[in-house]
This record gives sequence, structure tokens and C-alpha cells, in this order.
Amino acid sequence: MLQAEIKSLFKEDISILIKIPNSSKHYLCDCGEASLLTVKEVQSVSAVFISHTHIDHFSNFDGIFRHQIGSGEKVVICGPKNIHQQIESRLKSYTWNLIDENTIEYEIREIVSEEEINIYKIRPPLWNLELIKTQDFLFEDEYVNVDFAILDHKTHSIAYLFKEKDSVSFNENGSEFKKGKWISELKSAFEKNEEGKQIEIEGIVYEASELFHLLTRNEGYKLGVIMDHAAEEGNYEKIKTVFGNADMVYIETFYKDEDREFAIMNHHSFASASGKIMKECKVKEAVPVHFSRRYTESDRLEIETAFYKAFRED
Ligand SMILES: [Zn+2]
Ligand SMILES: [Zn+2]
Repeated sequence: MLQAEIKSLFKEDISILIKIPNSSKHYLCDCGEASLLTVKEVQSVSAVFISHTHIDHFSNFDGIFRHQIGSGEKVVICGPKNIHQQIESRLKSYTWNLIDENTIEYEIREIVSEEEINIYKIRPPLWNLELIKTQDFLFEDEYVNVDFAILDHKTHSIAYLFKEKDSVSFNENGSEFKKGKWISELKSAFEKNEEGKQIEIEGIVYEASELFHLLTRNEGYKLGVIMDHAAEEGNYEKIKTVFGNADMVYIETFYKDEDREFAIMNHHSFASASGKIMKECKVKEAVPVHFSRRYTESDRLEIETAFYKAFRED
């Protein structure tokens, strides 16, 4: 299953790395300071997901591309409205006279609305943006589909849901046949819904649908990352639509309950509000992240206690 690791120390800004099982590829959520992120991990990042470009979420973007330049890879960057222009300005602020055009390619996916994603390419040494197309979905590769919600934080803040693809497993105990290559043929027929496909086992031909009872569909793991958002109903409706029944969600919990007036003033969330919305979403596990830097360890404990009380309350 997908695994997330918080790469920022307490008092640092926020950066979360998502590792894919049986793959050396990673996804990175936000580019805050991240002392725990290694160069090797950065070089394995195939896609970066930016919630919004407040400095605490974007300041380490330079540190990330510093280690990606030269890889020759294509890296996808998803982010809110205008992300393409902000990345262009960051890249253009350096001198690139010794770099050729094949050292890296960024594909930027600008989330304009739920149905409108603009795809741009940008590559060295000139880093001029090229609009490729507009599409109605954000991200899909061989491992995951990524769904999202556009939350309000006095600016768009994108919350991402990584949905691992469903897998199909073979129920060994329910079968009296000898194992063979027919199992993978059957799985493929099941995935493509080819009920009439002929499957031969030990010299006898069966229709695929007669054997489907030997397979089980396992729903893919759902991992969410919800960054800065105002603790208000409009956001909660969107969060419930996208993150309901997720397996694990990391959610911004910038303030203690005692400081909720700052949360309201700064369009942020606070401990019990984040815990409560996670409970309403019926997520299996939830983790509060991204605390105000002025807080001490004991403030952090206070946040976690109030968060889990609201999350687990009957
Ligand atoms: Zn913010
Ligand atoms: Zn923030």
C-alpha cells in the first residue's frame, strides 16, 4: 500500500513524501523545508503535488529541482491556478548557460477548476512555457489515480487524494486446478470484463466467467493530503465528497483550539475542527500535520490530544 513519510522536522515547514510499493518512484506533496528528505529520494520523485504557493509550502522547490536537474527525466508538477507562472519565474531566476535542453523536462498541470487542467511543458535552458493541451483529469499513472478538491484558504489550496489502483488476487484455496499461466489470463479477462474469453486449464476449455469466482477484487488504498484550509462548511462539503472513507489522511492543523481566533483570521484550521471533519469523513486513520512554528512540543501534544478526541469521539 501507499506509504507517506513526513520529511519535515517539528518547527520546519511541511513536505510529505509518498512511496509506492514495489516501485522506486515517489510522489512529493509540498516543498517546505524538509531536513529528512534525502537526495536519492528527491531523484526518485516522478511527480510533485503543490497545495498552494505560500512560502512555507514552496520555498524548498529550488532545493528539489537542484537535485533533479541532470536526471534527463520528465517530472510532473501539479498545482493551483498560476502555478506555471510561479515555477517559470523561479526557474528563470538562475543562470543556465551551461545546461542543455535534455537535462530535465517539467510538465506542469495547472488546476484551473475541477474540470479544467492546463498542461504546460517547460525545459532548459530558456525555460519558456509551452501550453500543450487542456484536459479534464489531473493525474493517472500505472500505480495511482489522483483526485483533488479545491479548498478555500483565501487562495486556492488543493487537497489531493491518491487512489492506488484496484488489484485482483487469486483464491488459491478455492481452486482444485493446478496453477499455471491460465491464472494471469483469467485475471486479465476479469479486469477487461471479457466474460466469454476461453481459458484452457489442463486440456479443458472454460469460459472466463465460470472461473471468476476464483478471483477477488481488492480495492486500492486511498491516501489523502489536505493542506491549509479555512475551517468552514464550504470546504467541509468538498472534503467529504473526495475524502470520504479514505484509508489514511494527513490534514493541516495549524492552531490549537485555544488559538482558534487566529485560525479564523488566517483562513486556517485548528485541532478539534480538523479531527471532527476527519471523523465525519469516516476515514480509517488521520494524522494532524503542519503546526504553527511558534508552538512548543507541549503545544503540539495539546493539538494532537484535541484532534484525536474529536476524531474518535462517539
Ligand atoms: Zn497557506
Ligand atoms: Zn501553510
